[in-house]
Amino acid sequence: MTDRYAVIGHPISHSKSPLIHKMFAEQTGQDISYEAIEAPLDGFAATIERLRAEGYKGCNVTVPFKFEAYRLVSSQQRARIEAELAKAVNTLSFLDDSQIFGDNTDGIGLVQDIQQNLKVVLSGKRVLLMGAGGAAYGVALPLLNAEAKLVVANRTEDKAFELASRFNADRITGCGYEALSGQQFDVVINATSSGLSDELPPLPPGIFAPGALAYDMMYGRETPFMRFAREQGAAQVADGLGMLVEQAAEAFYIWCGVRPDTVPVLAALRG
Ligand code: NDP
Repeated sequence: MTDRYAVIGHPISHSKSPLIHKMFAEQTGQDISYEAIEAPLDGFAATIERLRAEGYKGCNVTVPFKFEAYRLVSSQQRARIEAELAKAVNTLSFLDDSQIFGDNTDGIGLVQDIQQNLKVVLSGKRVLLMGAGGAAYGVALPLLNAEAKLVVANRTEDKAFELASRFNADRITGCGYEALSGQQFDVVINATSSGLSDELPPLPPGIFAPGALAYDMMYGRETPFMRFAREQGAAQVADGLGMLVEQAAEAFYIWCGVRPDTVPVLAALRG
C-alpha cells in the first residue's frame, strides 16, 4: 500500500518539496505519495489530526508552523535534540502507537550541503551565522556538532546573545553587527530573511577570509548578500537550494529508512 506524506505550510503553492520527494521515491523504489497542503493559519493542529485520521505516515512542516509543530510534540517529550534546542520542528512522523515524533532536519541539511556538495570542511573553521530566527536556531547545533567555531550576529543584538546562551559550548558567541568590524570568517551564512525584502544585513567590508564560502539559505534568486559576497571576493557563493534538498533527504531517510542520492535531484532542480 502507498504510504502517504505531505508538506504543510501557508502559503504552500511555491513548495518544491513534492517534486523533490517524487524524485527520491522514483530513485529508491519506495511506494510513497507526497503532496502540498495549505493549512489555515489557525488550523495547523486540526490539519495534523485530519492527516493522522486519514492514515498519513508523516509530514514536513514549513513557514509559519514550525514552532507550533514543536509545541505539538514537546508536551509528549517526543522531539529529537536538534528540534528541542531549536524549539522548531520541520519533520513529523506519525507512529503506530498514536504518538507523533518531531525532528528538525534543516541543520543537518545545511551541514550536508556545505560539506558534501560544496566540499567545505567545517571542523575548526570560523563560521559567522547571521540571524537569530527559526532558521538560525535550527542550524546552530549541527554546525557546532561539525566542530565549527560559531559567531552569531543579529540586528537585534539581544536575540544573538540569547541564541548563543542556549548552547552550552565555548565555541559559540553572540554579537551585533558592529562587533564584526576587523574580523574575518571562513564561512558566512545568511540565515536572515533580509533577501526577501532585497536588503543586505549590515556587514562590514573585508569580512571574508581568503577562500571563504558565502552561503545564503534563501534560494530562487540572487540576493543582495550573494552580490555583496561576490564583490568582496568570497571564493564560493551558494544559495539554499542544496540545503532544501538535503533536509528533504534526511526526512525521507527518517520515514523510509533509505538514503536517496541527492546529487541528481539537485542537478535536475538547477537544470
Ligand atoms: P525569522 O522571521 O524567524 O527570522 C528572521 C531573521 O532575519 C531575524 O534574525 C531578523 O533579525 C533577521 N532580519 C530580517 N531582515 C533583516 C535585515 N534587513 N537585516 C538584518 N537582519 C534581518 O525567519 P527564519 O529564520 O524562519 O528564516 C530566515 C531565512 O531562512 C528565510 O529567508 C528562509 O527562506 C530561509 N530558510 C531556508 C531553508 C532552506 O532549506 N534553504 C530552511 C529554513 C529557512 P531581527 O531579530 O533583528 O528582526
